[in-house]
Amino acid sequence: MFNSFCEIDAGTFGNPVEVEKFEFNRLANGRWPGLLERIRADAGANVSAGFGTYLINNSGSDTLEDENFDQILAALHRYEEPFEEVNPREIPHYRPEARHRASRALYIPREGWVNPIELIEALSTILARSPNVRFVDDICVRLSQKAGRVTAAWTEHSGEVTAEQFLVCNGASFSSLVDASNLGIDFQRVFYGVGATVLLETGIETLSNCIRTPNRGLACGLYSAPQSSHETVVGASNFISPGPTLHVRLTSIYTILRSIMEQLNQAYYRAELIRINVGWRPTSSDTLPMLGATSIANLFVATGTKRDGLHCSPVIAEFIADLLVEGKSAYQFELFNPERKLNRYLPRDAAIATLVRHTMNAAYQHDFVPAKNRMSEDLEAYYTMEFTKLHDDVGALTWGIPAELKDMYRYGHIK
Ligand SMILES: Cc1cc2nc3c(=O)[nH]c(=O)nc-3n(C[C@H](O)[C@H](O)[C@H](O)COP(=O)(O)OP(=O)(O)OC[C@H]3O[C@@H](n4cnc5c(N)ncnc54)[C@H](O)[C@@H]3O)c2cc1C
Repeated sequence: MFNSFCEIDAGTFGNPVEVEKFEFNRLANGRWPGLLERIRADAGANVSAGFGTYLINNSGSDTLEDENFDQILAALHRYEEPFEEVNPREIPHYRPEARHRASRALYIPREGWVNPIELIEALSTILARSPNVRFVDDICVRLSQKAGRVTAAWTEHSGEVTAEQFLVCNGASFSSLVDASNLGIDFQRVFYGVGATVLLETGIETLSNCIRTPNRGLACGLYSAPQSSHETVVGASNFISPGPTLHVRLTSIYTILRSIMEQLNQAYYRAELIRINVGWRPTSSDTLPMLGATSIANLFVATGTKRDGLHCSPVIAEFIADLLVEGKSAYQFELFNPERKLNRYLPRDAAIATLVRHTMNAAYQHDFVPAKNRMSEDLEAYYTMEFTKLHDDVGALTWGIPAELKDMYRYGHIK
């Protein structure tokens, strides 16, 4: 997805760090249409993509998603981003069950989608034709350094690869490579945001546009987009893991499949399941990207982009290319300095309240039906107590734990 406004949360504009992160993401907005044209022409290949996203507000979870929707609407006005309020009944191929129908919807013409497999293939084709590019199809097991410079990347089967400059951009596996390399830099740990999407053969019910909800608790909500004239991709789940996980949990796939049949298009009961895609969102310990130069003169880093790395990639690529070629960039991305200390930008009380809201919302996404008594209030009180205790236990007295990382703190993966 090329989403920027759709990724805004209720708390985004209450926190200067989150505003800066949103504005970084937004830099990529206008880049994609021209870039896609260029990639198609240079590769001589089709890359399926399109623009125009329908953002729906339904009752699939709790009021957190209504607040996120309100915040997106306010931001569209504030930033003068083009959009229209539309009748959900008029969204092409949107046919939810009656009790899950949306009450409100927006059409945002500059937010879009791409087939990422076709995109990566086209980029590979272009690079393979360049006389300046050599692919080494191998795993880098460690970097070696001497006198303050990286001297080589050591691979599993192809031996040593030498170069003048090194960019570590291996996504969620960043920390395992750094740990094996003895670089003498105390980078924050990057986790594996294990996520899945499902590719469906949808025939005449294939979407013409992206249709999605706002973010939901601990994940990006329900989204769907065409991938070709007959395929639709739906997603997405998120599970933060300290180590690599090759397969997705059954609960994630169950929730995606149930949600799309109930909340997107009832006719998808007869869609054919082509493939389950599993990927790792590189999630840093403070949730911010890690981009730029390091204290080792010829070592650069680009990771930690979590769930919007594809969308932001033209800006990241330009920034890193500036640093590699010119030694400096006009972009001011100090917030994303890869060697920063953990940025504890969340106030403690707000973080505890957010954790409670996200955890309750996640429960609704996973079939929670409260008893007809004080169960919801009691649960909220219990979670407030638990998350306050978690903050006390890890010494978070003046700062807050990002909601998605609560288990990484709970189980001691972030010290
Ligand atoms: C289910 C799901 C849905 C998503 N949806 C979106 C979306 O809609 N929009 C969006 O913008 N982003 C989305 N993302 C996030 C996006 O995929 C990431 O932000 C982005 O891929 C991160 O890019 P990266 O290059 O840092 O890491 P990756 O894309 O993970 O690439 C890292 C590469 O390094 C390779 N590698 C790892 N270790 C080594 C090693 N030791 N040696 C050699 N190679 C190595 C890996 O094989 C991989 O090819 C989604 C992610 C998931 C999982």
